[in-house]
Amino acid sequence: MGKFRSNFALVKSLLANIRIIRVKPSINWFLAKYMGKFNLVDIGGQFFIHSHLPSVNSKAFTRFINEHLLARTLGPSHAQISLTNACPQNCRYCYNKDRSGELLNTAEIKQLIQELKEMGVFWLGFTGGEPLLNKDIVEIIESVGDNCAIKLFTSGCNLTEQLAAELKKAGLLYVSVSLDHWEEKEHDRIRGYKGAFQTALKAIDIFKSVGVHVSVSAVLSREMLQKNQVEEFLKFLISLDIHEAWLSETKPTVEALWNEDSVITEEERLSLVRLQDKYNKEERITINYLGHFEGGEHFGCNAGNKMVYIDAFGEVSPCVFTPMTFGNVRDKSVQAIFSEMKERFPSESCCFINQNYELVKKFYKGQFPINKEDTLEMMKEVRFSPLSEFSRLYYKR
Ligand code: SF4
Repeated sequence: MGKFRSNFALVKSLLANIRIIRVKPSINWFLAKYMGKFNLVDIGGQFFIHSHLPSVNSKAFTRFINEHLLARTLGPSHAQISLTNACPQNCRYCYNKDRSGELLNTAEIKQLIQELKEMGVFWLGFTGGEPLLNKDIVEIIESVGDNCAIKLFTSGCNLTEQLAAELKKAGLLYVSVSLDHWEEKEHDRIRGYKGAFQTALKAIDIFKSVGVHVSVSAVLSREMLQKNQVEEFLKFLISLDIHEAWLSETKPTVEALWNEDSVITEEERLSLVRLQDKYNKEERITINYLGHFEGGEHFGCNAGNKMVYIDAFGEVSPCVFTPMTFGNVRDKSVQAIFSEMKERFPSESCCFINQNYELVKKFYKGQFPINKEDTLEMMKEVRFSPLSEFSRLYYKR
C-alpha cells in the first residue's frame, strides 16, 4: 500500500475510533509518531501496523483505546498462553525447557482466556511447545471472540491446508512461522530437527493461501549480529513475500545462554532499530523488531505489568522469557496472581531478563519455572531501569 493511501487509511481508522481525541495529546502525539514509522498493510479490509498490535480498525484496537488509554485499567494488554509443552523440535534457546506438570485442559484454557480478556487483554499469543499439536486449537481460537487479536507462533509442524483454513475461520488473525536462518542446514541445526526449514517454508505458503497476516518469527543470534549477516537474512525474508519479519534476539532465559556474550548490547539493539527503520521506508516488507517496540524510547519492557505469560501447566510468569512463577491458575485466579506480580513489576525501559539473568542462574534448581518462594526471594535482589518514554507520558499526571 502506497504511503499516501496508507496515511489516509490510518487517519480514517483512527477517526472511526473518535474517542481517541480524549486521550492525552502527548500520548496521541507519541502514538502518531510511532505508527508513522510503519506502513499500513491491508489484508481483507483490516489495516495492520504490525502484529504486536491489533489491526487499527478492529474491535480489539478500540478496546486498547477505551480500556487502556482512557479507562487506564491496571490489567494486562498482552498475554501469551502455551497450548502444549510438546514439540518435535529442540531449540537451544527454547523458553519452555525443563518444565513439567499436569497440562491445562481445553476447558481451563478457554476459561483463562475469558478471564484475561476481562482483565484487559486485547492481544493474545498462542505458543508452545508446538501449539498445533493441541488437538483442540480450533475450538480454543473460536472461543476467543472478535474483540481480541489472536496471534499464533508455530514451527509449522502438523499444519495442513485444511487446518489452516479452519484456524482462519475460527478467527486467527496473524501467524508467525519460526525461521532462524536463511540456510536450510543451519536452520535445521539450530532447531535440532531435520526438515525444520522445509516444514516452515511449506507452512508459510499454506498460511499465505488462506489469507491471514503472515510473518516469520526470527530469533537472531548474537553471532549473526556480530558477523553483519542480518541484512542477508532480511533479503531472504523479503524473497518469501510475507507481510512481516518479527525479529527478536536470543534472550538469556536458559542455562546455555546465561553469559554476557549472549546478551545484546545497547549499541547492537540500536543498529537493529536503524535497520528496521531503513527497511520499513523501502516498503518491501514490514520489519517489526521487538527491541524497537520494547525499547526505552518507545513502550519499554512491560513484563509483569502489561504483559503476562501462562505456561502449558498453568504457571504465571511476567513474560515468556522470565522463567519464574507467581502462582498457578489452578490454585488462584489469574487476576489475583497478576495483581500480586504487578505490584513488583514497574514498567521499565530495559529488558528485565537481560538485566537480571544472573539471578535466574542463582535461583535455578534444575526445574523451570523458578518456584514462587524463590521467585519472591529473587525479587528482593532484581534491578529495574527507569520508565520508558510511553510509560513516562502515560503515568505523568
Ligand atoms: S523481559 Fe521485557 S523486554 Fe525482555 S523479553 Fe520479556 S517483556 Fe520483552
